[in-house]
Amino acid sequence: MSLTQTTNPAPASPVSPAVPFLDLRAQQARIGPEMRRRIDAVMDHCQFVLGPEVVELEAELARRAGAAHCVSVSSGTDALLIAMMAEDIGPGDAVFLPAFTYTATAEVPLLLRATPVFVDIDPSTFQIDVSDLEAKVAAVRAGGRLRPRAVIGVDLFGQPADWPAITALAERHGMMTIDDCAQAFGAALHGRPLGTQADCTAISFFPSKPLGGYGDGGALFTQSAERAALYRSLRTHGEGQLRYDVQRIGINGRLDTLQAAVLLAKLTAFDAEIAARERVARHYDRRLGNLLQTPVRVPESEAAWAVYAVLLPDGLTRERVQAACKAHGVATAIYYPKPLHHQPAYAGHHTGESLPVSEDVATRIMALPIHPDLTVDQLDHVCDVVAGALAHPAQARPARA
Ligand SMILES: *Cc1c(COP(=O)(O)O)cnc(C)c1O
Repeated sequence: MSLTQTTNPAPASPVSPAVPFLDLRAQQARIGPEMRRRIDAVMDHCQFVLGPEVVELEAELARRAGAAHCVSVSSGTDALLIAMMAEDIGPGDAVFLPAFTYTATAEVPLLLRATPVFVDIDPSTFQIDVSDLEAKVAAVRAGGRLRPRAVIGVDLFGQPADWPAITALAERHGMMTIDDCAQAFGAALHGRPLGTQADCTAISFFPSKPLGGYGDGGALFTQSAERAALYRSLRTHGEGQLRYDVQRIGINGRLDTLQAAVLLAKLTAFDAEIAARERVARHYDRRLGNLLQTPVRVPESEAAWAVYAVLLPDGLTRERVQAACKAHGVATAIYYPKPLHHQPAYAGHHTGESLPVSEDVATRIMALPIHPDLTVDQLDHVCDVVAGALAHPAQARPARA
């Protein structure tokens, strides 16, 4: 049976079920009627920009995050952009961020002509390494060319970064903190939902995220009324209290009403889906934990498993396991094949120094399917294939040139 409580009986399971990385159709089968009701309501009132669903969604997200303010925006990337525009981050400013993350985290400071400073990650949790962060801040200070302005912590794969340590360090150095929570809405640290750990928190509704829309979208959380007002202004061309009163340079960065309607429908299933993702993670932990490195839990946290990434002993083994998965209908993915300081677009902005953990992890990491509609049969199939490829290297070795 499916790991979410579903009223639709699952079809008889085939011998080798194909296991997709994501199954938005299965999700639609569970929440279709509510989704259609929500979309029809927007079609009826026709307020496609900043309609009532946007207001309702912001209130509901703020409640869930335990945040004073939520401002919805056009994407997770625009959430980061607006957050940094609001602080006037720009030329001469150093923005510290992990080298092992999605490209958007580094792209935004560069769009604003600030300087990203890449920080290595912890080898067990893959989250930003706070001792390396301390070293990188000290190096920027010693260099005297850049002003340390902000730290972007990323809650990678749905687990929280070490926020107490990050915020303490940022405070010591007079920097603001941004939580890139694009992969982790719904996660918690020390019993508190993510959303208030940093000065502002950015989330994404890209369809593959745990809370995904049917297109692009994102949101910002903050405890500061001033920041929230700035975010609202910046997402609408920098307008002031009155329309066509342009106070500052902004962007067109609003969330569509239709996306808000979709997200409100999705939220009715969200808690059960986060619980289902946790059950999938535990199933993998149980069956694969002795064979390879399964995700190490961040202490005193609850994850929102956007990605379940395992670490293989080396790159060749990863290739072999991935090939076996492909041959048996199991989707896999590599997040991320290259740390950001090695990306052609960013390498020129890096000191050239090695970030050994990020570089090593990129060669060995592999993500397995994790979504709320995986059945126990599908999970067992994934585990059988992975275990088989690790146990019988010769049979599963891909043809090599
Ligand atoms: C997805 C993602 C983003 C960007 O979100 P979009 O909504 O796709 O713009 C930023 N940071 C991280 C870590 C992400 O995973």
